[in-house]
Amino acid sequence: MRPTGYLHLGNLHGALKNWITLQNQGEFECFYFVADWHALTSDFADPSMIGTYTEAIFIDWLSAGLDPEKSTLFVQSAVKEHAELFVLFSMITPVAWLERNPTYKEMKEEISNRDLSNLGFLAYPVLQAADILMYKAYGVPVGIDQLPHVELTREIARRFNYLYGEVFPEPQSLLADTPKLLGIDGRKMSKSYENAIYLSDEGVELHRKVMSMFTDPQRKRRTDPGRPEICNVFSFHNIYTEKQKVEELEIDCRNAHIGCTDCKELLSKNIAAGLEDFHAKRRYYLQHIDEVRDIIKEGNRRARFVAEKTMAEVREVMMGKSIY
Ligand code: SF4
Repeated sequence: MRPTGYLHLGNLHGALKNWITLQNQGEFECFYFVADWHALTSDFADPSMIGTYTEAIFIDWLSAGLDPEKSTLFVQSAVKEHAELFVLFSMITPVAWLERNPTYKEMKEEISNRDLSNLGFLAYPVLQAADILMYKAYGVPVGIDQLPHVELTREIARRFNYLYGEVFPEPQSLLADTPKLLGIDGRKMSKSYENAIYLSDEGVELHRKVMSMFTDPQRKRRTDPGRPEICNVFSFHNIYTEKQKVEELEIDCRNAHIGCTDCKELLSKNIAAGLEDFHAKRRYYLQHIDEVRDIIKEGNRRARFVAEKTMAEVREVMMGKSIY
């Protein structure tokens, strides 16, 4: 995750829950990191908050259930080998592969308030390939929009193996069936749209945000029947409200037996209850920040151990044995 803001419910249900499931299945050895160099690719002009966001993300990860005993949790820039592998991969990656990356084109067109003409932003997927292949990953848990990046990682692995011999496996994309949760204004939940419900939101703030959520735009009066299938509030009920009550709400909405205000009041209460445990843990970690920092240091150490082994192998096949 890039430390470009505080985590919100979209991050929790779109990625983090899936990471925790993968960790707890015990089938994989998981590595999760805060990608602070990746944050710089777009936010290099004002990096003042990157450190704060990095620590906040770790606190949220731990509070949500990522377990440092089971997963390696680390900070990208603390493992310098990522930069070295990025340099070596950049020697074998044709620029055309990067220019045709759909996310690159899309972000260049959409984002006007930041300068994205830097080399680091174009080369972003090469650094991502280094992040993934460093750990010889079998799979990468991604959303659909990240599929081209994993494909590029596979292409880089293939090219490397062709040139220097089999070193890297070609990682699979581990797509999860995640719920589609929008921001309170009905657009994609994003800190830049100021429409996010943050994991840290509690009490009055959480209630205020839920009560201001967009609903079915065709339902103007209390007596109008609603369409839960297009209502964002209903998508949240599917996560935070018990199944039988959701079924009742669906019927009541369609028949205009419930008003949107009551529906949101219930949702606000259920989200607060659903996040109660998370918030208690979050308070604990905020008060025990040294514990969090020790966890980060230990994760960095473990990641470095693997990265050093991979790089020794890479250097040898690509550069020969060092005599210096
Ligand atoms: Fe959405 Fe609930 Fe209103 Fe139906 S009653 S439109 S589900 S907020």
